[in-house]
Amino acid sequence: MKRRHQRTNLALLTAGALAGPAIAAAPAVAAPAPEVAATGTVVTAGTALNARSGPSATSARTGTVANGTTVSIVCKIAGQFISGTVKNTGYWDRLTDNTYISDAYVERAATEIPKCTATTPLPAVSGVWMLPVTAGLVSDFRTVQRPAHDGVDLGATRNTPVRSASAGTVIRVVCNVSRGTCDTDGNSTLRGCGWYVEVQHPGSIVTRYCHMVRRPSVTVGQTVARGSILGYVGTSGSSSGPHLHFEVHVGVPATRENAISPIPFMKARGLTIS
Ligand SMILES: [Zn+2]
Repeated sequence: MKRRHQRTNLALLTAGALAGPAIAAAPAVAAPAPEVAATGTVVTAGTALNARSGPSATSARTGTVANGTTVSIVCKIAGQFISGTVKNTGYWDRLTDNTYISDAYVERAATEIPKCTATTPLPAVSGVWMLPVTAGLVSDFRTVQRPAHDGVDLGATRNTPVRSASAGTVIRVVCNVSRGTCDTDGNSTLRGCGWYVEVQHPGSIVTRYCHMVRRPSVTVGQTVARGSILGYVGTSGSSSGPHLHFEVHVGVPATRENAISPIPFMKARGLTIS
């Protein structure tokens, strides 16, 4: 089953990658990505850290961030004072998915993080779904030129955090390349989608995230929240430049047959890929 799935996957990605145009730079019209001011590591006594809709423990819980997770911080905001494992502070960090974690549990370089303002850009978030990266569409789902391209290519730059589009369970973490390793840049002579992750969501929906720059940050069986960092954008496998190849499947396991276009799927959830 696994072999067969993998072979099918290789074939479709090869066809798409070889027939398709080179991945160009992100198009001119792209929503502004939240600028990452600093990265840090969540350090708890072992339990997951709650992510919240606002800077206090009484704000609604939006998800959890596992101990040891690398987080990308956009800005900081004063909120409830927390005595944590790393420091005692009233500052909370806004992450790129617009959720907040207490800085008391974040180990990071002494980088000064800017305070959040009304103009700090927000990622596209709607209900329980969000876009995995904020970046423009550079190649569409199953075009005439790339009929076997079963996802969309989003022109995010190298090392951009790739976020789980919704809550779920990680079901695959794979290096899928026809030759060599996924830890170096790929090219169009290779087959496979490089380092990739699949997340299973309620309703037998599976999302797939390809071409990551290095081994993903998550492991099979791990529960992820919407916005949890799965890994970072790269160009491993059959890829001619850094981007995120993103797929949505309506069935488990994810196959060619159950791949659907992420564009109307996300549109139905209030999110625009363009
Ligand atoms: Zn692609």
